[in-house]
Amino acid sequence: MFETLSDRLDKVFTGLRGKGRLSDADIDATAREIRIALLEADVALPVVRAFIDAVKERARGADVSQALNPAQQVVKIVNEELITILGGETRRIRLAKQSPTVIMLAGLQGAGKTTLAGKLGRWLKEQGHTPLLVAADLQRPNAVNQLSIVAGQAGVDVYAPEPGNGIGNPVQVARDSIDHARRTMHDVVVVDTAGRLGIDAELMQQAADIRDVVQPDETLFVVDAMIGQDAVTTAQAFQEGVGFSGVVLTKLDGDARGGAALSVRHVTGQPIMFASTGEKLTDFDVFHPERMASRILG
Ligand code: GDP
Repeated sequence: MFETLSDRLDKVFTGLRGKGRLSDADIDATAREIRIALLEADVALPVVRAFIDAVKERARGADVSQALNPAQQVVKIVNEELITILGGETRRIRLAKQSPTVIMLAGLQGAGKTTLAGKLGRWLKEQGHTPLLVAADLQRPNAVNQLSIVAGQAGVDVYAPEPGNGIGNPVQVARDSIDHARRTMHDVVVVDTAGRLGIDAELMQQAADIRDVVQPDETLFVVDAMIGQDAVTTAQAFQEGVGFSGVVLTKLDGDARGGAALSVRHVTGQPIMFASTGEKLTDFDVFHPERMASRILG
């Protein structure tokens, strides 16, 4: 994960070792190298700019009387700015005052929504909840079946249209699922929605209609981290079309660069809440900006 960026930054820091007080020229040169490292990691340009400006400003104002030498100070500043760009604090799921809490998943097809529904189901169950996974992705023929399989693996219940009843209406399924959850004492409902390969006006409208009927407490935008900063344009389209309150990064295990992770928070203003790192239901965790920053810095 993010090997390229880690290597690059490590070289920048190594070059600073043994230096006395950093001159403005040293700081500019360091900032340039960090800029290249971030661009190579496929971080979106506005994010790179904000990051570099913050690092430069803080490096210039760094307190020379501190116990840290200049190289250590730069590492400290970069670490803190990485944490900021990744969202600062960990943001937890907001539970509704009145059950059920509704979590809606939105994103492109193949982003990992259905897998995520299973992962969230398992995780919620571990936290003491009784989740219900809802199959409102009726676009892909196998999606309902796939959701039932992951629900089975997670040991949680699933709400889906009866097989053989044709394609069904996902908005109706989503609406009914909330009443069903109330009746059956499920306290969290996870609604899986359809996604196409590209941004699609009709499906965006369908997701917005589902949002209107289920009134989610959290809408999670699910995005494949391997698409790099393309995540930003996709995120913006979903922000306009459906709106979301948090981001889930999937396939971080295959992401050597880190562009999506480092861009999406700053560009959308919404926190990264969970991270998926593999196909198994256990390859999943709450997103911790601090831990991610220290992983990048090695
Ligand atoms: P959906 O179309 O958004 O519902 O996406 P799926 O849940 O069907 O996932 C698409 C593919 O990505 C499947 O083959 C999953 O096993 C795989 N996948 C999902 N999450 C991850 C992840 O975090 N890492 C890896 N390596 N594969 C994943």
